[in-house]
Amino acid sequence: MNRGFITVIIGPMFSEKSGELIRRCQKLMKYGRKHVKAYKPAEDDRFSTDEIVSRIGYRLTAASVPRELPSSSVEQILRETKDADVVAFDEASFFGKPIIALTEELAYQGKHIIVDGLNMDYRGKEFGYIGGLLAIADEIVKLTSFCAVCGDANATFTQRIVNGKPARLGPVFLIGDTESYEPRCRCCFVPPHKVSEEDVEGLTDTNTASQA
Ligand code: ZN
Repeated sequence: MNRGFITVIIGPMFSEKSGELIRRCQKLMKYGRKHVKAYKPAEDDRFSTDEIVSRIGYRLTAASVPRELPSSSVEQILRETKDADVVAFDEASFFGKPIIALTEELAYQGKHIIVDGLNMDYRGKEFGYIGGLLAIADEIVKLTSFCAVCGDANATFTQRIVNGKPARLGPVFLIGDTESYEPRCRCCFVPPHKVSEEDVEGLTDTNTASQA
């Protein structure tokens, strides 16, 4: 009999969370001979609509489901995973609240659930319902990236950049603006509510000094 188990993989952008999820699933399929069924939020079509693709290039076949996870989707997943040993959810922080009860139920059915997701948004706050998933996890894998400012290998934050500078709180109107995200360590991360012109100038000076 399979024992249920919940693995939650978290980290900032560019920490290869999806790659870690795919690598674990492929290992379970190839060497563990496990039946794996994977899902991802439907709106996430950055790379592919029927696969999870990591930034580095790992790929895994996955079904897209609406991120709100309406009861019809939950029922569909419970039906489709009847024979699965392992159920994976990519970008779990984009799913609605039902992801917690669904993960719990699948684990009670004796399956190994593997989810990955951002633990913090650009404000440095909890992203979606990832905190609830972390609370019920048997195993937590916290990945880091490399800080885009100082190169430290322990970047845990995702900084939103607008026009080359840390973004303030609130919506970004991208008419003529450019928006991007970069991983940063706690030292270099500027929380949006603390961004001021002075902070931006100060940070730029610090960066120049630390790179010299
Ligand atoms: Zn840094």
